[in-house]
Amino acid sequence: MRIDVFSIFPEYLQALDLSLIGKARQKGLLEIAVRDVRDYALDKHRSVDDTPYGGGAGMVMKPEPWALALESVLPQGAEGQAGEDAPLLIVPSPAGRVFDQSLAYELAEERHLVFACGRYEGIDERVYDWAGAHFRVMPVSLGDYVLNGGEVAVLAMVEAIGRLVPGVVGNPMSLVEESHSDGLLEYPVYTKPASWRGMDVPDVLLGGNHAAIEAHRRAEQLRRTASRRPELLEGRSAADLSRADLAV
Ligand code: SAM
Repeated sequence: MRIDVFSIFPEYLQALDLSLIGKARQKGLLEIAVRDVRDYALDKHRSVDDTPYGGGAGMVMKPEPWALALESVLPQGAEGQAGEDAPLLIVPSPAGRVFDQSLAYELAEERHLVFACGRYEGIDERVYDWAGAHFRVMPVSLGDYVLNGGEVAVLAMVEAIGRLVPGVVGNPMSLVEESHSDGLLEYPVYTKPASWRGMDVPDVLLGGNHAAIEAHRRAEQLRRTASRRPELLEGRSAADLSRADLAV
């Protein structure tokens, strides 16, 4: 998968060199390039923002540096063709679709993602209209709160998406068993020692009975989801929430 990130603080994205995502880049599973929007500014001060038309607080990011920046990653001759094969431009925004695991799975299928990190009061709205002719455009929010810029949102999204790309996480079963993969939260996990500061690991996990362990974990998943995120259980089938599951 190819990922291009545009930001006026490219250093913010250095965390993408670390850990599993960094290793995936080294292995060529993820091809990630981080670019500075100021490199596409037109004046000697490399300015990327200006005062808002209509007045109001804060500054707005100018359209031309953004258009030049985004154009630089378009395939040759792709101008004016925003078909199914066009790169997907993700615009982090508190006014976007809220990012979740199902969107992460959807985006992990893409060939080329481009992220445009806004700052200040955001990017001139005309950039999105212009971009619609060249990219598929998707505003995405990290949640219902306001960040200073899109970089933190991009770090979270690239990590969540990147780890779903085949080969990035060593044991694919890790992805199957974790929170939100089947709409439930993950069961509690334990490691050695079996007894620690007066607290014991549940006996069933020590016994080696795989069916009993699976049933115990399933019950813990349901119990934890019901107590912490009850809305995730709404609309689940009766079979999913059977007495057998909850009785273990
Ligand atoms: N004035 C904008 C508004 O009220 O919608 C907020 C601008 S915010 C200070 C600057 C940038 O941070 C945004 O352009 C966006 O790129 C990013 N940002 C802020 N909150 C975000 C969120 N919840 N999810 C994703 N990106 C966010």
